[in-house]
Amino acid sequence: MKKSNVDVLVIGAGPAGTVAASIVNKAGYSVRIVEKLQFPRFVIGESLLPRCMEALDEAGFLDAVKAANFQEKYGALFVKNGVKCDYSFADRFTEGWTWTWQVPRAEFDKILADTVVSMGVPVSYETTVTGIVFNGSDSVTTVEQANGDKEEIEAKFIIDGSGYGRVIPSLFNMDRPSNLPPRKAVFAHTQDVKRSMADEPNRITIIVHEPGVWIWVIPFSTGITSVGFVGDPAFFEKYAGNMEEQFRGLVASQPHLAERFKDTVLVFEPRVLQSWSKTTDKFYGDGFVLTGNVTEFLDPVFSSGVTLATVSSQKAARLVLKKLKGEDVDWEAEYTQPMMQGVNTFRSYVMRWYDGTLDTIFFADDQDAEIKRRICSVLAGYVWDTENHYVKNHDTALFKLAATIKTRDKFRALNKEA
Ligand code: FAD
Repeated sequence: MKKSNVDVLVIGAGPAGTVAASIVNKAGYSVRIVEKLQFPRFVIGESLLPRCMEALDEAGFLDAVKAANFQEKYGALFVKNGVKCDYSFADRFTEGWTWTWQVPRAEFDKILADTVVSMGVPVSYETTVTGIVFNGSDSVTTVEQANGDKEEIEAKFIIDGSGYGRVIPSLFNMDRPSNLPPRKAVFAHTQDVKRSMADEPNRITIIVHEPGVWIWVIPFSTGITSVGFVGDPAFFEKYAGNMEEQFRGLVASQPHLAERFKDTVLVFEPRVLQSWSKTTDKFYGDGFVLTGNVTEFLDPVFSSGVTLATVSSQKAARLVLKKLKGEDVDWEAEYTQPMMQGVNTFRSYVMRWYDGTLDTIFFADDQDAEIKRRICSVLAGYVWDTENHYVKNHDTALFKLAATIKTRDKFRALNKEA
C-alpha cells in the first residue's frame, strides 16, 4: 500500500476544508486535502453572510471569487402575506463587511479548491477517508481512491471539514442528535425570466408560507434562481406526484411566487433533504479538530452554514498552527466556547423563527431603528459581537422584544376602540 506523510491532513474540499488548508499552507507547513467526490459537485448552501468575507479574505480567496461575477448580496428580505421587512446589511450595529454573494455552490466551491491548489496545496479528488488510527496526536489515515487503490497518510494533525460526511464523529462514535426537530427541504434551481428589480435580486427573500413553513428565493447572476421550501416533513405530504409535480404544486400555492415561476424551466429535478441537524460530543481531540458542518449544522433559515464553516476553519487553523509550533492550546476556551457562542446565538434565532417570535418582530408596524440595526448584525453573521444586546442575550432578548410589541399593539387597538 502506498504511504505518504504531511504535517496537516484536511478531510473535505468544501469551504471549511479549503479555508483551513490555505491558512495552514500560508504559514509554511505541508498540508493536503482529500476529497471524496470529483469537483464541481452539487451542494446546497448558496446564500452567504457578510461575516464569512473576513475568513475568505484571510484564506486569500477573495480575488478569485470576485472574478467569477457572482450575484452580490446586500441584505435579507422577509415577506409574509405581502407585508415586507427588509434588512440591509449596511444598516447594522457591528463593524465589518456589509455585503457578500449568492453563489451556485458547485462553481463557488470549485473556485476555492482551484485557488488553494494554485497556492500549492494538493487536493486528491475521489479519495475517501475510510479509517483513522491515532497514536497520541499523530495519526495514520487510510484513504481509498475511486479505482480501489488504498493509501496510508501519516499526519501530525487532522482538520475534519467533511461536512455531511461527518468522518471523525462517525468513525469514533461521537455523533449526537440535535435539539432541533427534524425538518425537510424541497428545492430546485429554476430559470427566472420574469425576474424584475422589484424581485430584489441582490438579497435573499424569505417568505413565510404558513406557520413553520418558509421559502428561500436566491437569485444568481446567471438568471437562474434557487427556490426551496422548508418545514415540518408532514407539511409536504399533501403534495402528490413526482418531484417536479410536487415542486410545481408548492410554487403554485404561494402567491408571491406563483406568477413569476409559472411554467418555468427547472435546471434539475427538484431535490429533497431532511433531518440535517446533528451535533457531536466534542469539537476537538488529541491530534484533530472538527470544523464546519461536522461540528453542528442547525437550519438553513438564516444562511449560517458557510459562515460557521469558514469562521470555524479560520479559528481552528490558527490554533493548529500554534500547536505545530509547540505552544499550548486550550481547545475548550479558544475553540469550542467561541464557536458555541456563535452557534447558540443562531440557534436562538432559529428557534424564535419557528415559534413565531421573530414574525412578531419582523412584521411589527414601526420597528425601532436601533434595535433593527442590532438584529441586522446577527442576520449578517456577526454573532460573536457580545457588545450587541441581541447577541449577548440571544436567549431572552427576542422574547422580551416580541412581548413589548404585542403589549404596545394591544394598547393601540384599545385606544382606537375608545
Ligand atoms: P461541505 O460543503 O459539505 O463539504 C464537505 C466535503 O467533504 C464534501 O465535498 C464531501 O464530499 C467531503 N467528504 C465527505 N465525506 C468524506 C470522506 N469520507 N472522505 C473525504 N471527503 C469527504 N448554508 C449557507 O451558508 N447558506 C445557505 O443558504 C444554506 N442553505 C442550506 C439549505 C439546506 C436545505 C441545508 C440542509 C443546508 C444549507 N446550508 C446553507 C448549509 C450548508 O450546506 C453547509 O453549512 C456548508 O456546505 C458547510 O460547508 P462544509 O465545508 O462544512 O461542508
